[in-house]
Amino acid sequence: MKAVVYEKPFSVTVRDVDDPQIQHPNDVLVRVTSTAICGSDLHMYEGRTAAEPGIVFGHENLGVVEEIGSGVTSLAQGDRVVMPFNVACGFCKNCLAGETGFCLTVNPGFAGGAYGYVAMGPYKGGQAERLRVPYADFNCLKLPPGNEFETDFVLLADIFPTGYHGCELAEVSPGESVAVYGAGPVGLMSAYSALLRGASKVFCVDRVAERLAKAEEIGAVPIDFTKGDPAEQIKEHTGGEGTDKGVDAVGYQAQAHDASHEEPAVVLNALVETVRPTGRLGVPGLYVPSDPGASDEHARHGQLLVSIGKMFEKGQKMGTGQCNVKRYNRQLRDLIIAGRAQPGFVVSHELPLEQAPQAYQKFDKRVEGYTKVVLHPGHALAA
Ligand code: NAD
Ligand code: ZN
Ligand code: ZN
Repeated sequence: MKAVVYEKPFSVTVRDVDDPQIQHPNDVLVRVTSTAICGSDLHMYEGRTAAEPGIVFGHENLGVVEEIGSGVTSLAQGDRVVMPFNVACGFCKNCLAGETGFCLTVNPGFAGGAYGYVAMGPYKGGQAERLRVPYADFNCLKLPPGNEFETDFVLLADIFPTGYHGCELAEVSPGESVAVYGAGPVGLMSAYSALLRGASKVFCVDRVAERLAKAEEIGAVPIDFTKGDPAEQIKEHTGGEGTDKGVDAVGYQAQAHDASHEEPAVVLNALVETVRPTGRLGVPGLYVPSDPGASDEHARHGQLLVSIGKMFEKGQKMGTGQCNVKRYNRQLRDLIIAGRAQPGFVVSHELPLEQAPQAYQKFDKRVEGYTKVVLHPGHALAA
């Protein structure tokens, strides 16, 4: 089958790889119809991780069940399903507590597994014609048959729940004001989720014009961080107080405010400034325990200069980590079906799988409005 394969930094190809096989009675094989490229894939694409050449990318996958293992009880051939990017067992201590992003079974020696991701276990990615899904009864979320809402539903694999998770970590409640740093796909989904949760005012900070325009389209106030200190800009809008809550949807590849270089702690520190005393910070943006590409010795070991003193003084609280997609995907699916949520507004490009190399290049440079790309394997477009 055809798959998107990582070759070397800044290079992926679409080439033939082995077809997946059922390896365990609770596996299913899914014929992928939609699979999205994520900001997290770019960390590997740019050679910022230990990802080895040959890895098949793709953790945001939707498709149709084609083959089922003998132990699968809740799924049948032909079911349309979307899989959380987290691979999880459903029965370990963390899964039972709803923390499926930290499953203790699927990736020995590490809490958490994912498809097509370095250090996240032996699971091949779904930017391919087919995908093996382990613990399938637990990991497949059933969708209505057909292809209605395909573009909205594929976002249930990661970014819609992840954006929502940012709000959950920050405990965004009705009537509150929220500052979201980053208007990439995750930031836009956080801003959208904050509005769904009844926030009274949502700010979205970035510098990419098309992304800020999307934020404004959904009812957030766009803040361009290159036009002046973003915390100060937001304070001006909030009578000097700052916001009740804040979300970091940027992570360690954050740009300094003059956009001249990376400054990995700049968003965390901006949030400490932006959020009012006793407010809460949700950090779905990714921070890593080691970053060979970082410019200073501390950052290479995942240690950043964060204003902990100011955070203490303000009595702020912070939550962080991988999204437990399973905790939210059913409810968010039902909001889509009910017509109450249309996260697909974030998708800028839908392309055949074969165009992955160009799509990665442009998404990585954030040019030509490349905000979120959904790839369709050939058979899906033909169907
Ligand atoms: P992205 O790279 O497309 O978006 C990041 C955005 O942040 C860009 O638009 C960029 O211009 C903007 N930005 C850069 N510096 C900034 C600054 N100083 N202030 C404000 N904005 C700034 O990525 P994405 O797909 O939206 O993902 C965002 C982050 O979330 C990444 O770190 C990704 O790895 C992470 N992520 C986490 C999870 C999870 O489970 N926690 C899941 C998916 C993605
Ligand atoms: Zn993702
Ligand atoms: Zn588990």
